[in-house]
Amino acid sequence: MTECAYCGNEVEYAEPVFIEELRSGMRISTGSFCDYDCLLAYLEARRLAPGR
Ligand SMILES: [Zn+2]
Repeated sequence: MTECAYCGNEVEYAEPVFIEELRSGMRISTGSFCDYDCLLAYLEARRLAPGR
């Protein structure tokens, strides 16, 4: 079972989105998401880092 990295739901029943990042030349799996809404919300939350 794969859980959405944002809302924690299982992603299998929907249309899951998987993303990877290149970090220091290594490909790192960032997470799985139920759909693009969760993906965007997750990226938004990361961008809104404290101290701004
Ligand atoms: Zn989700």
